[in-house]
Amino acid sequence: MPKPSTNKNILKQTSDLQLVRFLYCDLGGIIRGKATHVDHLASRMESGIGLVKGMISMTSLDFLAPGASFGPVGEVRLIPDASTFARLPYAPRSAQMMCDMLELNGDAWALDPRSFLKRMTARAAEHGMYIDAAFENEFYLLRKTDTGMSRGVEPLDNSLCFSGIGMDSAERVMQDIIAALTAQNLVVEQYMPELGPGQQELSIRHADALRAADNQITYRQTIRAVAAQHDLIASFAPKPFADQAGNGAHIHWSAWNKNHTKNLFADARDANGLSKLAYHFIGGVLKHLPALLAITTPTTNSFRRLQPHFWSSAYTAWGLENREAAVRVPTRYWGHEIESTNLELKASDPSNNPYLALGALLAAGLDGVENSLAPGDAVEIDPGNWSDDERAARHIQRYPTTLSAALDALEQDDALREALGAPLAQEYLVVKRAEAEHFEGKGDGYELTQYRFKF
Ligand code: GLU
Ligand code: MG
Repeated sequence: MPKPSTNKNILKQTSDLQLVRFLYCDLGGIIRGKATHVDHLASRMESGIGLVKGMISMTSLDFLAPGASFGPVGEVRLIPDASTFARLPYAPRSAQMMCDMLELNGDAWALDPRSFLKRMTARAAEHGMYIDAAFENEFYLLRKTDTGMSRGVEPLDNSLCFSGIGMDSAERVMQDIIAALTAQNLVVEQYMPELGPGQQELSIRHADALRAADNQITYRQTIRAVAAQHDLIASFAPKPFADQAGNGAHIHWSAWNKNHTKNLFADARDANGLSKLAYHFIGGVLKHLPALLAITTPTTNSFRRLQPHFWSSAYTAWGLENREAAVRVPTRYWGHEIESTNLELKASDPSNNPYLALGALLAAGLDGVENSLAPGDAVEIDPGNWSDDERAARHIQRYPTTLSAALDALEQDDALREALGAPLAQEYLVVKRAEAEHFEGKGDGYELTQYRFKF
């Protein structure tokens, strides 16, 4: 059983705490966990907390998926990663740690999403690539309009994109959110009121891939909690309102040499400033994108967001500074062109499990690297403005338009299924198919209300 060397340091700082949350994110993208009383923390850090295996087969609607491999029998242990210990500024008598799922014999469980991401970063390292990443999230702030079961809500404000009025209306809650994220060692970079009414964007600095996914858990937890302290609801639904802007959780990533001195995606001699490795990575992502969507945009609600002309991307295209491209190459910072070179996947939203999303993105990109896949030409317009024929001539496809269709693509994608490993791939498909089926025939209103408050 791993005993992180920092266990002792943690135990020294817990006298004023009561609970320490052992967190994980499940296949449905739900952040779950169990908390130990602090008096038992020392032993729990060694032996973990038991989790029934059936929880991995639970949908985001809290029913066990029909045909699930796991149910009430069998346990894994939630073993915390001591390096993720954080006191919770919004819950002063609680702290949290992210957990791995270990079999009782101490092996990583094949179904554990966090271990999957570790497997993919190890695979990248075999190619000499060390991945940095960040999730760039958008979310809505909503006010409750009644306290009944219907949970009526309205946006915090009606402000315009990037507007000064929006900044003022969200000032107090956003400042508290920023303080709470900073206290947990997330580095806040930019804030802006986004296009939708009450929609916000708050970006945080990149970190190594595993920490970036851990940060996404902290981010969602913190924003929801601090919003609640302001009597607001934070909605991370991909499309909280059918007729308003969606919420992206765009993934930015870059590849570095081992001592982090060289950005392997940058090449100053190339017209676009990109290395061969970056092109192959993009080629792999575009090739696998229809299947990848089942993991990076994994809910029925996600596919409401992925419409042409909504700046969320809808086609398998890439481009420089193109916000309708699936993979966008953002502008480099003046004077820091090499260091700031990174790629951005627009087709990602906050309903995903960040460990699975980032792991699958790496698997797709690494397949491109391993097979020297070319991404085609950069697209310089909104690909939605081309005709079907014009897109076909450039091998640009419309995304699958439903979760079920993306799951079909995943089922047929050998490279992604092999990367996940058969047990995880199979259970993921079972859980997600159960979710997709649950929403069939139930109407838009039901789906929107279910997802609005879920993540
Ligand atoms: N809200 C858009 C999305 O759904 C992104 C807008 C932008 O930041 O470019 O991804
Ligand atoms: Mg944005």
